[in-house]
Amino acid sequence: MNARDPIADLRRIAFLLERANEATYRVRAFRSAAAALAGLPAAEVAERAGNGTLTELTGVGDVTARCVAESLAGEEPVYLRRLVATEGSDLDAEATALRTALRGDCHTHSDWSDGGSPIEEMALAAVELGHEYLVLTDHSPRLTVARGLTAARLRRQLDHVEQVNAALPEGFRILTGIEVDILADGSLDQDEELLARLDVVVGSVHSGLKDERAKMTRRMLTAVANPHLDILGHCTGRMVSSRPAGVTGPGDRAHRPRTRAESDFDADAVFAACAEHDTAVEINSRPERQDPPKRLIRRALEAGCRFAINTDAHAPGQLDWQRFGCERAALCGVPADRVVNTWSAEQLVEWTRARA
Ligand SMILES: [Zn+2]
Ligand SMILES: [Zn+2]
Repeated sequence: MNARDPIADLRRIAFLLERANEATYRVRAFRSAAAALAGLPAAEVAERAGNGTLTELTGVGDVTARCVAESLAGEEPVYLRRLVATEGSDLDAEATALRTALRGDCHTHSDWSDGGSPIEEMALAAVELGHEYLVLTDHSPRLTVARGLTAARLRRQLDHVEQVNAALPEGFRILTGIEVDILADGSLDQDEELLARLDVVVGSVHSGLKDERAKMTRRMLTAVANPHLDILGHCTGRMVSSRPAGVTGPGDRAHRPRTRAESDFDADAVFAACAEHDTAVEINSRPERQDPPKRLIRRALEAGCRFAINTDAHAPGQLDWQRFGCERAALCGVPADRVVNTWSAEQLVEWTRARA
């Protein structure tokens, strides 16, 4: 039998574990083994698999070594086969159609802020999922717990993304972006000039989530009316589960799961403003967020809003969580033509540029 690519198999396992929301240390075991092997000549890997010395390498343990040996013997690793066989539930027809219509993801994090993986890893996972683009939206300066990017770091990131893009497969690109904090007065936490330069701006409330209704409504209305804001992120801020999110990042504090009530605001006024200013309402796919709740998705739909079905992924495997958002959107009757990430990268950027 022909040998398989053991590094690809290890990365696939890590991806599936992450997607299944499994513990971080499990995912890490496979990613570090893949990284360890990537640094060695193929002949040495084969030799070590043959004489049982793979586990002498830092980052390779018994389980991962067995996977490598199976791959090299031309067999699908048992670990991988089991994972594939026990994968998540099927989506119904409408949710599947919506998922198939999505061409990219507009809300993702890398290890530049509180994500667990380098930009390149996130991009490669997006390519493997069949996406045409990935909008990189690391946090803004005042979210210090999530290592929010200062203007200077964001500028460096923009240069870096340009380099990464040059090395990615034809037909795929990383779009630049930010998840900018909506500050107490509704202003956005980044330099105006940078916000104008970015391809996509997602704005979210991460602080003062218990502000009283009138204040929170004013705050959100101000943000939504800002021409730089393209997408209103996880608008209620709720957390529906305290299940570990399987995040591989050092912090992920901004998205640390804990049960939290919805913020109190005049949703009809905010959605009317979103429709008026053509600001899209995010349907956040994270299992612990499920934000906005279905009753509010229906109201945003009635108000005439556009939507973006995003993962808010902090790790590569989480990029496949769009299915959860699609499921909720489909239940609420959101049609594909109201969803901005069913557009091509060109159409998406044309839309955001026309807005600001
Ligand atoms: Zn957020
Ligand atoms: Zn986020």
